[in-house]
Amino acid sequence: MSDAASAEEAAALDAADGLALKRAEFDLDDGVVYLDGNSLGAPPRGVAGRLSDVVGREWGRLGIRAWEESGWWTAPERVGDRIGRLVGAAPGQVVVGDSTSVNVFKAVVAAVRLADTASRDEVLVDAATFPTDGYLARSAARMTGCRIRAVDAADMAREAGPRTAVALVNHVDYRTGRLHDLPAVTAAVRAAGARTVWDLCHSAGALPVRLDADGADFAVGCTYKYLNGGPGAPAFLYVRRALQDRFDSPLPGWNSHADPFAMDPAYAPADGAVRGRVGTPEILSLLALDAALDVWDGVDLAAVRAKSLALTDFFLRCVEAYVPQGRVASVTPGAHAERGSQVSLRCAAGPAGGAGDVMAELIRRGVVGDFRRPDVLRFGFTPLYTRFADAERAARVLGEVLEGARRR
Ligand SMILES: *Cc1c(COP(=O)(O)O)cnc(C)c1O
Repeated sequence: MSDAASAEEAAALDAADGLALKRAEFDLDDGVVYLDGNSLGAPPRGVAGRLSDVVGREWGRLGIRAWEESGWWTAPERVGDRIGRLVGAAPGQVVVGDSTSVNVFKAVVAAVRLADTASRDEVLVDAATFPTDGYLARSAARMTGCRIRAVDAADMAREAGPRTAVALVNHVDYRTGRLHDLPAVTAAVRAAGARTVWDLCHSAGALPVRLDADGADFAVGCTYKYLNGGPGAPAFLYVRRALQDRFDSPLPGWNSHADPFAMDPAYAPADGAVRGRVGTPEILSLLALDAALDVWDGVDLAAVRAKSLALTDFFLRCVEAYVPQGRVASVTPGAHAERGSQVSLRCAAGPAGGAGDVMAELIRRGVVGDFRRPDVLRFGFTPLYTRFADAERAARVLGEVLEGARRR
């Protein structure tokens, strides 16, 4: 594949792309190749106007009445149901609020509380987990008298046993982009008598997820990555319907009370997804997320997945064509069944510096990915707005940087 052939192929792939028109719904700088949507998604165009209405009219004119009249009070469940559609959850099981970190804590403690802790005192955590999940699982284990055991996510299915209360697994590894087998792990953990907590930060909005169909017990995830909710947008929590009556939140706030305005000194939990709430919802960021989710109307996740795989395949081929032999090695699985929506390239130090220097130079040249210590370059592909031409340019610029000379 020569440079010209790759550029031509990119143009043909973009011309045939059924999702190509979606890009116009995002506010993106066309001079920049933005491949960091796995860290912070780009802003959908509808967000700014919606926020201005929320601030000016709802907050500014309705004031306190907006909690009822503008539906602020029930927004966590309403927006939760919109996310539910994207992760295979029927209405009434997803609530939006707090951070992913906080929701990991709620879910892990609640899962342990569902177990018979006389016999089950083990919390399994994905050994390569995003650190916050590990910190919180460890604290949750300490508080509930459990031991924590770190195991490879790929081995989770056979490691779950008679002592396991809960297994916390990242659906897609944030560093390598490896996709784990949610249906198989969920089934195996359940067969062992334990519960699963899935972290969907790198899969929600990137690929089809079927929480209900696959029998997941709990799930959490970010909304500022592939769901484009904006920096610090609130996270979501899924509690399978069959467990909701027994969901015993470790953070029972007044917003999860059955009758919050009774201001009752005694706690009585609400039914359903509301039970996952804690305090007053983050209305501004929650409604920014609500507006951001409009881009998903009518979008088929199977088409998103197909484009994601085509983009990452194409990027890998371009890297092979453009980057000097041996300078980078993909740590993202080649098999589609094991790949999320990013490509991570290990890049040893060389004439262009370490991987951190290489990424800094890429960013200077208008290709925005990110760097994870010690030597990983991450490129996230967001099918709703990433073009094949972006993948081609990113690989070409990477080749130029590593060659230490501009080629064109
Ligand atoms: C991004 C990410 C988080 C972030 O958690 P916050 O509480 O939003 O900071 C957690 N877990 C995983 C797997 C992530 O990728």
